[in-house]
Amino acid sequence: MSIHEQDKLIRAISGDGYASLTAVTTRNITARIREIHASSRTATAALGRLAAAACIMGEALKAQGASVTCVIDGKGPVGQLIAVADSAGNVRVSAKNPTADLPLAPNGKLNVGGLVGTDGFLSVVRDFGVGEPYTGYVPLVSGEIAEDFAAYFVQSEQVGSAVGLGALIGGDETVLETGGFLLSLLPGCPEPDRLAERLEENIKNAVAVTEMLHSGGLDAVVSRLLSGMSPRVLEERDIFYKCSCSRERTLNMLSSLPEPDRAELRSSGETLEITCDFCDAVYYIAPNEL
Ligand SMILES: [Zn+2]
Repeated sequence: MSIHEQDKLIRAISGDGYASLTAVTTRNITARIREIHASSRTATAALGRLAAAACIMGEALKAQGASVTCVIDGKGPVGQLIAVADSAGNVRVSAKNPTADLPLAPNGKLNVGGLVGTDGFLSVVRDFGVGEPYTGYVPLVSGEIAEDFAAYFVQSEQVGSAVGLGALIGGDETVLETGGFLLSLLPGCPEPDRLAERLEENIKNAVAVTEMLHSGGLDAVVSRLLSGMSPRVLEERDIFYKCSCSRERTLNMLSSLPEPDRAELRSSGETLEITCDFCDAVYYIAPNEL
């Protein structure tokens, strides 16, 4: 994998405090996704967009040890997609059929919506480590992922927001640029309609998120989307593709299987080979460890 500039998340706010922007650049994360999952060009774009959205939602959790799990299952060829992000800036993803692919859409773009499908839901589970996790879900709009997350924010969290997610994958499958943003109106704004209009205007005038990142990184995303609004950067941090699996967690998972199943595995006498769904780790478990 080639090393690019460190992946980052930036959070900024308009000078008046009523518009909030979180944006991420995730080229290394998406390159790692492709390396782990050997994903097709279109599936890499889908997983890259999903990972960018999950990173943005993970940061919003704030609480230490909190995590968010985003699941998209639109009954398309790529099958179920899962992304898990935490508040410390780590994300991991999996796909049921990462090698599935489709020809380019008639507009010449990657057919992410076709690969993901629209016959299903986007579900979001936020787990703060204490109490019951919070679950929200919305029917998929287009399977293109950004529109699906936008629908989620409006319907489930009732926040006026705009979402942009992009993944620019070269013809040779090299990950060229990926990232995304979430632009939200904050409560208490005296003229919310005027602010929304202004933000819509900025979005209309801005180019695709991958182009903004390519031209000037996250600073360009902030200055374009909060143009004329005296933006202030509140936070900038590194983000990573990182799995939380371990041999101990694998053993814990196996110990939760029903005793008859474990007895059967023990009596087979064979070493179990367990591959993580989210990374390239493989754990070998001897029968006597069960
Ligand atoms: Zn793993």
